[in-house]
Amino acid sequence: MRLATFTHAGTTRIGAVVGDEVVDLAEEDPGLPREMEAFLAAGAAALAAAERATGRAAARIPLDDVRLEAPVLRPRKILAVGLNYADHIAESGMKPPEFPTIFNKQVTSVTGPYDPIHLPRVSGALDYEGELAFVIGRRCRHVPRARAPEVIAGYLVLDDVSVRDWQLRTPTWTMGKSFDTHCPMGPWIVTADELGDPHSLGIRTWVNGELRQDSNTKELAHDCFSLVEHLSTAFTLEPGDVVTTGTPGGVGIGMKPPRLLAVGDVVRVAIDRIGQLENPVIEEPVDTSRP
Ligand code: ZN
Repeated sequence: MRLATFTHAGTTRIGAVVGDEVVDLAEEDPGLPREMEAFLAAGAAALAAAERATGRAAARIPLDDVRLEAPVLRPRKILAVGLNYADHIAESGMKPPEFPTIFNKQVTSVTGPYDPIHLPRVSGALDYEGELAFVIGRRCRHVPRARAPEVIAGYLVLDDVSVRDWQLRTPTWTMGKSFDTHCPMGPWIVTADELGDPHSLGIRTWVNGELRQDSNTKELAHDCFSLVEHLSTAFTLEPGDVVTTGTPGGVGIGMKPPRLLAVGDVVRVAIDRIGQLENPVIEEPVDTSRP
């Protein structure tokens, strides 16, 4: 199934995307949660009910008539991995890390799959990072790699938008990775059973139609399952937590000379069998500074 969070006629709820339409799950089955975290936490029973609702749905809304939101609007955690593709490690000039370099993005950076990315007023060093991300479906701790597929609900596309000067001027990357609007994700969650092997997917990023990143998730140094094992060794993972797995080579800062994003650019990130994001770059609006 393809699970989306969408807004239609003034309310935001979850649905199953079928072709170019979306089934309003709570409308079809009032017993189902209207919010993704709660839906994922309800586990296999909710998924089965959603499958049944999707099968009998008479009322489907054209995707063109809804606004797709980030599938998880406010994940409790967004965890990310630095330097997880060999070609990106090479372009960064850094040594391959022995352990995955984990950082987090603040949940306030989350934005929808087609929403604008802000060029911060304090920086001109805005960059894209097309990434495969996954969503946790079950509360868990100390998950061995072999059992990791049991706790992954599904997969989505994520752009780990980065402000390079703010990222690189301190030892931790939190500030430069967490500006508002700098975590577009979606366009929906493709459930693990529908996607199959997450480690054989083409992943590509274009800026204004020009191909900048072109790789495959088989190049991941630490794959999704290893990341679950590693992360859950230290802390509990919860339904709705998002883990983004790192970006391949071809980021703007790695080019000679660097090619960073400017107002008016459009960034598109696509992953095979999942879908794509498309986000225009705009100037940070003045009113975001008001307390
Ligand atoms: Zn990244």
